[in-house]
Amino acid sequence: MKKYQCDNCEQTKCESEFSDVTDVSMRFSPGDKYTDKECPECGSLAYPVETIVTVEELQDSANKLIDEIELLVSDHLKDDGLKFEDCSLVGIMQSTSELSSRITGIENSDMKGQPDTWLEAIFKHYKETQDGSFPPLFVAAISKSSWHEWQNGSEYSDLETEIKLEDCDHYASCNIHLVFDWQEESISFDFGNNLSDGFNEGEKIHFDYNDPDEMKSSITEAIDESWDDIKSNNSGYEKLSVDDVKSMALEIARILIRKPV
Ligand SMILES: [Zn+2]
Repeated sequence: MKKYQCDNCEQTKCESEFSDVTDVSMRFSPGDKYTDKECPECGSLAYPVETIVTVEELQDSANKLIDEIELLVSDHLKDDGLKFEDCSLVGIMQSTSELSSRITGIENSDMKGQPDTWLEAIFKHYKETQDGSFPPLFVAAISKSSWHEWQNGSEYSDLETEIKLEDCDHYASCNIHLVFDWQEESISFDFGNNLSDGFNEGEKIHFDYNDPDEMKSSITEAIDESWDDIKSNNSGYEKLSVDDVKSMALEIARILIRKPV
């Protein structure tokens, strides 16, 4: 959807939220930049905001600017003749032609946007490193949570949280893993345990993580649905409430949908 920005109060909204421009004959003189919209609040003219999505659009808009600068500078030089202070204008001409050749060399891969969430950042990091490590800033981001990095590898990497079970005569805990399957590009929870014998796998659940807004409710629903299987698959979980387990899973989900620093 095309966006417009008010020239006066600078609010930017979708085209449909701006009013059609009024008093056209009074507001525009020949040579003025024309627009068909005005601000619904202050009544000033509003102009379309250029959104740059592809390399071609970037190159087009930058080349247009460069052409304008070159035109301005060369008109100025023609009008006044070359004077000492015009050395800087000649410099500008040189810079714009340098800029123009650099813009021509931009590739689509140079336009990769910044990831919106830690989850995107983690998969992007994998594509770049292929070693299954988590981005160091993400590891730092989870350090204040109950989750930590458990293992990483080129096929799978796991984050882990642990709920220690108190009334046992030996060390026992319920261990929840969030497993990143790099080949399948998927993530899932594994509700395992550790009965003094290391991590034992448990019930695995998948959930929808493609839409950050839906991720938490998808996890909640998946755990509710699988709660009986989680308990029967690995002992220890019957000592916990489903809400305890959900809150641990949601803790990591909240971090994953956060914007990376
Ligand atoms: Zn306005």
